[in-house]
Amino acid sequence: MMAQYLALKAQAGGCLLFYRMGDFFELFFDDARVAAQVLDIALTSRGEHDGTPIPMCGVPVHSAESYLARLIRAGQRVAIAEQVETPQEARKRGGSKALVARDIVRFVTAGTLTEEALLEPRRANLLAAVCEVRGRCGVASIDVSTGAMVLEECAPPDVAAALARLAPTEVVVPEEWPDAPPGCFPRPRVDFASDGGDDRLRKAHGVATLDGFGTFTRPMLAAAGGLVAYLEHAGRGTLPLLLPPVARDSGGSLAMDAATRASLEITESAHGGRAGSLLAAVDRCSTGAGARLLADDLAAPLTDKAAIEARQSLVGWLHDDALLRSDLRTALRALPDIARALGRLVAGRGSPRDLGQLRDGLTDARRIRDHLARQDDRPEALQALLPDLGGHGALTDLLSRALVPAPPTERGQGGYIAEGYDAGLDDLRRTSGSARRAIAALEAKYRADTGVAALKIRHNGVLGYFIEVPARHADALMAPDSGFTHRQTMAGAVRFNSLVLHEEASRIAEAGGHALAAEEAHFEELVAEACAAREAIARTAAALARIDVAASHAERAAEGRWARPAILEQPSLRIEAGRHPVVEEALAPRGERFVANDCALDPDDRLWLIGGPNMGGKSTFLRQNALIVILAQAGAFVPAARAEVGLCDRLFSRVGASDNLARGQSTFMVEMVETAAILSQATPRSFVILDEVGRGTSTYDGLALAWAVAEAVHETNRCRCLFATHYHELARLAETCDALSLHHVRAREWKGDLVLLHELAQGPADRSYGLSVARLAGVPQPVIARARAVLAKLEKGRAETGGLAAGLGDLPLFAAAAQVEEEQCDALRDRLRAIDIDALSPREALDTLYELRREVAASDP
Ligand code: ADP
Repeated sequence: MMAQYLALKAQAGGCLLFYRMGDFFELFFDDARVAAQVLDIALTSRGEHDGTPIPMCGVPVHSAESYLARLIRAGQRVAIAEQVETPQEARKRGGSKALVARDIVRFVTAGTLTEEALLEPRRANLLAAVCEVRGRCGVASIDVSTGAMVLEECAPPDVAAALARLAPTEVVVPEEWPDAPPGCFPRPRVDFASDGGDDRLRKAHGVATLDGFGTFTRPMLAAAGGLVAYLEHAGRGTLPLLLPPVARDSGGSLAMDAATRASLEITESAHGGRAGSLLAAVDRCSTGAGARLLADDLAAPLTDKAAIEARQSLVGWLHDDALLRSDLRTALRALPDIARALGRLVAGRGSPRDLGQLRDGLTDARRIRDHLARQDDRPEALQALLPDLGGHGALTDLLSRALVPAPPTERGQGGYIAEGYDAGLDDLRRTSGSARRAIAALEAKYRADTGVAALKIRHNGVLGYFIEVPARHADALMAPDSGFTHRQTMAGAVRFNSLVLHEEASRIAEAGGHALAAEEAHFEELVAEACAAREAIARTAAALARIDVAASHAERAAEGRWARPAILEQPSLRIEAGRHPVVEEALAPRGERFVANDCALDPDDRLWLIGGPNMGGKSTFLRQNALIVILAQAGAFVPAARAEVGLCDRLFSRVGASDNLARGQSTFMVEMVETAAILSQATPRSFVILDEVGRGTSTYDGLALAWAVAEAVHETNRCRCLFATHYHELARLAETCDALSLHHVRAREWKGDLVLLHELAQGPADRSYGLSVARLAGVPQPVIARARAVLAKLEKGRAETGGLAAGLGDLPLFAAAAQVEEEQCDALRDRLRAIDIDALSPREALDTLYELRREVAASDP
């Protein structure tokens, strides 16, 4: 057995091996150790290998799915080795000692899941493949649960951004690729050949050329080849649902790099997970498929005005008709996830319940179409979707006739094909029904014949049907001419058979077996019918998801009184009374009101420098405007009273290093790498938010960098930019940069306390509120008092040296001033230490004292 195990383990190629033994999947050696730890199950041992016990653990087959889910979540891949023959077959083949043949039937990995129990309904599950062909990278991605496949090409440095947008759960790359992104799974290099990719896709779709699907470059095809080869490998030859590949044009969506996505918390919050993200704050989708599409939309907002406006028109239409929207959302909520049901059916892992979901979902889709088609003033975007909602008449009719109302997930017991669909099957069922009734009648007859009222006809898996009487009544049935034959004596009961019972039982078994086989055959036919319509079904699912997303945006807009943004080609951004959807939602339960703020960036006033106290609302203002751009270009309404959004090609968000500390990133270096990316990539059509850039280093450096970055953004990149900073020295940039203006978040000191108004106002910040904020934060009074004294001294020093007015060159900065003082003290200390007091004459001692006094006086301000 170990030889067989080790051979399979070698085939498993680094995956954990689930080795089927009877009712269990067993794991051995290191696999067992890993699984026992992840699953928190007992580690035992079995036999010996090279003289040491073999570690072993196992999970029951019937509950394997939940264990698999936990292993996959822990980042493992699992190969499933099943018994591929029965013990009887094995004996027939190789004698009484023969080992049952086993084979790996499937690889279960994070990116190749289709099982409902292993997937999150509202989250897409992407598998990606990345490779490089002559200096360009191909990125292929697929949601295996629905078959949607996208191919794209980019420059090698942009792979990280593409992967951040897709957020795949598994990435495969060619082995020995030195530039592979970290954490990827290496696969054979030959799989990533562009010719091979072309072949594989043509074969999968049964077409002679891919031209009908779009134009695909060599890097795209190479990545697709690696992707499909991996799917073939994982499914052991069975491919999951593959929809025609879609080529993604890199300019077609708002470009955002990984750092921007993370800092804006678009689909995931900084703590990981959906809660606290923009997605969570806007998601009012009624279906899982809608929620998945919404996440997709927010991850890749559009850059085409007409396409955005088409989405808006549908949102607007549903926004204006609350009754229609409510009806529609109710209908959508009842929809099963047909995209995923189809995915399971095509992958050969479908159940009668999945067929039932298609029947119900497609029927509902038609109803929704009819309802929408009756409405007036339908927007064009809806007109384009309506045809996709219908057209499955023949399939839904077939499924409606064939299936019971609520088909089961298991096929083993049958019972899912409806009565009246197949006369032969009905006959078989009638036969077993009549035999069952005959057996019931037989029980009554035997009770009467034997006079044993406690006689029962029972059934179990081992004996089949049998007659049972209490032991004290057994004698009557034991008599040779009684017509009963003894089968088993139990404690207190004795079991018998009879010829008539045997005959009836055989009738049931035979009819039942035939009925099961008949149902199985119907299942296969129905699955084949459904699979034949896969592309049309996928289109229906996609259209429903699109309508759901529009209804979600409309609902969210109505809830929060959001506005439909005007989309402009020129690079401006005018937001009236804008709000931050996530912060606003967080404030509501505390009974606090969000203060709405305006933003008005135009080519001649494109850089806003925003000062004011910490906690005053600068970051919030910056981000809310970036989020509004994302929502607007995704086709949604935005949290503002009015909005005009000039299309953006790229969006950047950078947070000064110290703000990021909590996330454990190496600070200043990261900040500068990210800033460099902005300066090299932002265009006049881009929108950039910079939050306290330069904070991660000493004051002088930081101010100097912030100054230079702001200037470069203004002069060279010429993008729209909101720049929050606590360096009021930067205000002087307004004198030289004509498209830069000064703003601040307002605060007021009231009875010694600081009141943050969270309100944006024109002009530079009047002063620094650091000490008031420290006080607000609970820094002890003596420390605050001391800080005030130090501040007064520092400010005096600044005033005397000419301070700010003298220009940037001799800005006396807090830390710098303190540093000079510290250096002087050090020098003094060194001198004191160097004096050998005992060796001094009284006269020398007095001289030294005068000298020291002079030195101190010289350095006094
Ligand atoms: P800063 O960047 O100026 O340090 P933040 O933007 O981080 O300040 O805001 C600090 C806190 O103030 C937020 O967590 C939020 O609770 C509150 N806040 C910010 N902006 C507003 C606003 N416009 N209305 C109400 N509360 C706000």
